[in-house]
This record gives sequence, C-alpha cells and structure tokens, in this order.
Amino acid sequence: MVDIRGLKKSFHGKTVLSDISLTVEPGSVTCLIGPSGSGKTTLLRCVNRLETIDAGMILLDGELVGAERKGRHLVAASPKAIARSRRATGMVFQRFNLFPHRTVLENIIEGPTKVLKRPVAEAVAEARVLLERVGLADRGDAYPQELSGGQQQRIAIARALAMKPKLILFDEPTSALDPELVGEVLQVMKDLANDGMTMLVVTHELGFAREVADQIVFMDGGVVVESGPPEEVLVTPKHDRTRTFLSRVL
Ligand code: ATP
Repeated sequence: MVDIRGLKKSFHGKTVLSDISLTVEPGSVTCLIGPSGSGKTTLLRCVNRLETIDAGMILLDGELVGAERKGRHLVAASPKAIARSRRATGMVFQRFNLFPHRTVLENIIEGPTKVLKRPVAEAVAEARVLLERVGLADRGDAYPQELSGGQQQRIAIARALAMKPKLILFDEPTSALDPELVGEVLQVMKDLANDGMTMLVVTHELGFAREVADQIVFMDGGVVVESGPPEEVLVTPKHDRTRTFLSRVL
C-alpha cells in the first residue's frame, strides 16, 4: 500500500530523515515509535505530501506520489497523482482540527460534498453511519466545543473515514487527551484495524502498539533503527538504542 524507499528530508540544511525505507502492507497497522524529534511526524507529513521530499520516493498503491531521483535530477510526481493520493489518504492529528463553527455532521460532510462532490443527502446518510461506528450517533447536531476531547477525536476519525480513504495516517492521536479519554479513541482505532483499514500510526501508546500493530518501526535520529512484529521490537529488540528508548518509556 505504501512503499517508501531511500527517503531523505532536511530543513534548512539539517537532516531530519536520512535514507528511510519502509513498507506498509494493505490492511495492516504500522506503529511508528521513537523519541521526540526523531522524525516521526515529518515522515507522516511526507507521505501525505504536506512536506516535499529531497530524495528517494514514496509510492502509494504502486503510484509515485513522492519525488524520485533519476541520476542527478529529482522527478516530481504528477499533480494528478498527488491529488489522487491526498484523497486516498486520511489524516488524524494530535489536535482534532474540527471546524469550530460547524456542527459535527457539517464537519463530516464537508470533504465528501466539497471535494468529492457527493450529494448532501447521501453524504449526511453516510455520516450518520460513521457516527454510529465511532459511538456518537446522537451527537450529529452538536458543535465541537460541546464535546469532550475524546469525542472530538472520534469525530475527526469519522471525518477522515468519510473520504473513504485507502490509508489513514494518525499523528499521536491520543497525546492531547486527558488520560481517561485515551481508551475510547484507541478502541475506535482498534475497531478500524479489525475492519482491515490500512493504518500508519505515530504513537507513544506502546500497549496499543503491541496489541494492534502488525509492524513496529522504531526511529531515532532520522533513521529506522529497527522494524518488525511487536514481539520482536518491543520484547526482544536487537539494538541498544531501542532497548534504551523502551527502558525510558515502559
Ligand atoms: P515528537 O514525538 O516530539 O512529535 P517527531 O519524532 O515527530 O517528534 P518531528 O516533529 O518529525 O519529530 O521533528 C523532527 C525534527 O525536525 C525536529 O528537530 C524538528 O525541530 C524538525 N522540524 C520539523 N518540522 C520542521 C520545519 N517545518 N522546519 C524546521 N525544522 C523542522
């Protein structure tokens, strides 16, 4: 589903990602873990083309969406491929980024009606199904500020799903939440994973990662130090850097 090869990214001459390669299989969950500043968010932003890349390539479903190095030249992906990939990729942020002056339903139908040009009645019917799926069937007419942080994040997930993405990127979706609200958001994510959604998740929730991930990718200093199934990376890590990180956070 996602194939990243030799990805490099720097900001103002400072390398943030150096030579990242990783594959996310369709229907699988990959959790990106690592210390603050290791480049996890930047990697997600590159996948979603919120950042340009300096070298390497990103393929989504076999289609080039990042830049590709050909000899000394970078060949950009076509604007159409980028637009298609953006539409096929949902993103859920740490801060929920809902429109504050629109109701929950209006937030969810915004993308389907404005971007996908779906008829309003159809988009509303689908939004109601999604609200049910995230356990908030009765909150369609509420405004975001009337909801708890956990509920807002569940709406943000419903909004991402409304675009029928092939892939959802999650950037620390629970780290802005009060601890008692984390579980309800992780439960919705678990349900999505069980339904076969392809997910790339930056998270500090190692319990969730261990239970749900098919693949854990440990990053440090802009490189992938190691990756593999949770029982390998989290239980019997091969590298000292992984062990040190885990001993600090577990
Ligand atoms: P955290 O867990 O704290 O969110 P992270 O692993 O997600 O960290 P990134 O947010 O990707 O790390 O940041 C990696 C490095 O890139 C940091 O040193 C950060 O300051 C730098 N960085 C990120 N975005 C920019 C930018 N737009 N301009 C300059 N530097 C940036």
